[in-house]
Amino acid sequence: MYNFTYTTHASRVVFGAGSMKLVQHEVETLGARRALVLCTPEQRTQAEIVASLLGPSSAGVFDGAQMHVPIENARRAREYAKSVDADCAVAIGGGSTIGLGKAIALESALPIIAIPTTYAGSEMTPIFGITEAGLKKTGRDAKVLPKTVLYDPELSVDLPVRLSTVSGLNAIAHAAEGLYAKDGNPVMSLMAEEGIRSLAHGLRGISKNGKDRNARAECLYGAWLCGMVLGNVGMALHHKLCHTLGGTFNLPHAETHAIVLPHALAYNSIVADEAMSRIARALGVDSAPDGLYELSLELGVPRGLGEIGLHESDLDHACAVAMSNPYWNPRPVEEAALRALLQRAWEGSRPLP
Ligand code: NAD
Repeated sequence: MYNFTYTTHASRVVFGAGSMKLVQHEVETLGARRALVLCTPEQRTQAEIVASLLGPSSAGVFDGAQMHVPIENARRAREYAKSVDADCAVAIGGGSTIGLGKAIALESALPIIAIPTTYAGSEMTPIFGITEAGLKKTGRDAKVLPKTVLYDPELSVDLPVRLSTVSGLNAIAHAAEGLYAKDGNPVMSLMAEEGIRSLAHGLRGISKNGKDRNARAECLYGAWLCGMVLGNVGMALHHKLCHTLGGTFNLPHAETHAIVLPHALAYNSIVADEAMSRIARALGVDSAPDGLYELSLELGVPRGLGEIGLHESDLDHACAVAMSNPYWNPRPVEEAALRALLQRAWEGSRPLP
């Protein structure tokens, strides 16, 4: 435990209800003058509010963000940013919009201010993903890490409860795998445990009342911590499976994470005692995989991969893709055990080691 390397990424975080209103000040703090606001078509209204808060520093709104950052969108956004002479971008939205900002920054080093409205955590990572000819390529580059992040819990009050709960479980997955990461360290483990605790508590509140502002703040705080873990240490089997299932079968990102996590943790539970104890402690339960499975049931998220569009006949192929070029994992990835894990995740049955 006491041999580790700890590297920090420099970014500024401003957290609090109403912090979106500080956007103009944050643009100035970066020394920028013309901020292009990025969003999805669905979040155009929120983006227009940001543009009006920016006043003369607004270079307009680009509302072409899409899931998995298709290269065509990235090119259009890059050209648009050049055409309006933007010297900074403000990305308001979830991982897809922040991903579009990263795709612009990758080419131009344009500084990004992120205003996250989901719990996916992309704003805290130097990881980018761009999809070309149906293949999502990911990489790491310090240029794409947002320089400033404004966490404003008010903005997620309208995030539908179902999207909120799966997004929160997606965030918990980053922290859970960070606890057994090959390159983990005690600081990230503190953040991971606190992130899981905060999200689990906040998500229960949101599932009862999506407008519960304290619960929203707890979830966003947890999402920040979990995003830090994702950005700082390597992920393992769970993330490999979710990337395989998302990329090969086009399954929805956050739902896939929510369903697979208890099963991936059960797989690793026999070799990762300390991580499991910490996850269980954060959830207030005896067993990490069972506790997460129960939490998913309580939150009413889909239970099995079959419910989100995967055919049972795809499971052999999913297993083969996940076996090829695997990520490092604390327990060696064995084909028969992985196939059984996928079967259980497809059926939505209880997780087993
Ligand atoms: P998303 O960004 O695709 O958003 C889903 C939908 O919800 C969109 O239509 C969006 O406009 C809408 N939405 C978001 N916030 C809202 C709000 N507050 N109110 C109403 N609607 C809202 O979803 P996501 O789960 O945040 O991101 C998923 C993507 O992010 C995936 O492509 C994933 O690979 C990527 N990701 C990347 C990283 C990274 O480090 N690079 C980390 C996590 C996720």
